[in-house]
Amino acid sequence: MGSIAEHLTEYSTKLGDRVKLIAVSKLQPNTAIQEAYAAGQRSFGENYVQELCDKRELLPTDIEWHFIGHLQSNKVKYIAPFVSYIHGIDSLSLLEKINQAAVKHDRKIRCLLQLHVATEETKHGLSPEEALELASDPSIKSMSNIAVCGVMGMASFTSDRELIRKEFKEIKRTFDQLKPLFGPEFKEISMGMSSDWDIALEEGSTMVRIGSAIFGERKK
Ligand SMILES: *Cc1c(COP(=O)(O)O)cnc(C)c1O
Repeated sequence: MGSIAEHLTEYSTKLGDRVKLIAVSKLQPNTAIQEAYAAGQRSFGENYVQELCDKRELLPTDIEWHFIGHLQSNKVKYIAPFVSYIHGIDSLSLLEKINQAAVKHDRKIRCLLQLHVATEETKHGLSPEEALELASDPSIKSMSNIAVCGVMGMASFTSDRELIRKEFKEIKRTFDQLKPLFGPEFKEISMGMSSDWDIALEEGSTMVRIGSAIFGERKK
């Protein structure tokens, strides 16, 4: 059991500099985030709007915040002033909302399309077909203040590593199909968590979202 700083060093060594480490700090106290920040970590992931807003008020302003949870349209306005990336895009109307809010704050928000490839029904996201349909909608081109910069996905909650690999391959395959519909900004594949980041890396991940392996178990 190492410290937060030791875990971060361990992961930056394992990941190298081509893959971005997002430290998932949901349900962790600000002291834990400050410890990671002091060790040089700048990208953090949060799942809940209220918690994110509360934290960001008290923490350094140069943190790059990633919203990785399920985002309701009516809550976009709370995070739009400062969020860097929103990973869970699952509809055109959500993208529209985010663009409008970003225009209002005169900033650009990076968005990732969430793909549903896992066997669980509860996981949010678009099927590969739905993602292609969304990406083909001409209205996206007119959304000036968002950049659709890639995809995000979660594998099934299982110890079957071959199933996880199959699902990550599906995410990568869908990314490759979507890429020609976007510009050069479309380059991120956000996949891999504490238990499966190594498989994700082998299958082409560019961003891993790691929580408990850095911070320890979350308080429920
Ligand atoms: C909580 C969460 C993570 C991090 O999970 P760990 O197993 O703690 O690494 C990553 N991605 C999403 C979308 C999450 O909700």
